[in-house]
Amino acid sequence: MSLDGAYDEANPFALILQGKIPSTRLYEDDHTLAFLDIMPQSKGHSLVISKWSKARNILEVEDEALAQVMATVKKVAVATRTALSPDGIHVAQFNGAPAGQTVFHLHVHIVPRWAGGPAGFSAHGQGPMADLAALQAIANEIRAQF
Ligand code: AMP
Repeated sequence: MSLDGAYDEANPFALILQGKIPSTRLYEDDHTLAFLDIMPQSKGHSLVISKWSKARNILEVEDEALAQVMATVKKVAVATRTALSPDGIHVAQFNGAPAGQTVFHLHVHIVPRWAGGPAGFSAHGQGPMADLAALQAIANEIRAQF
């Protein structure tokens, strides 16, 4: 999909917000939701989305929604650091299929990084499908830090 197009109400993140498919939630407030990625690039890889914006990418997003999302990104990054003690955390966001975007509801990735371990690192879009029980255990660790 290109940078332009209509918002699809059946995209996976819209379905999560509608309660039609499950997610491993880390944090939510009135405007944003954070949950674990099901094909994580590393242990604790999470995503933050706006609950109300229909922006597909950063070019379309309302300034208010972007500010709300980024405030939650910071909260989740801090909680993730405390819970999992990574050596670094990369924050990423992709716009348009040629840039690697696969879900067309604006989202920001929070990816813990370790110098040597404990978790391996996969490139964007290359993470293995996660075991849901393992995701739940990681979520419990991070959730305890809010
Ligand atoms: P992007 O490639 O930037 O559009 O990122 C989309 C991300 O969403 C990928 O890392 C996927 O693994 C992740 N993803 C897709 N569907 C789900 C889902 N139902 N729950 C959690 N993460 C998902």
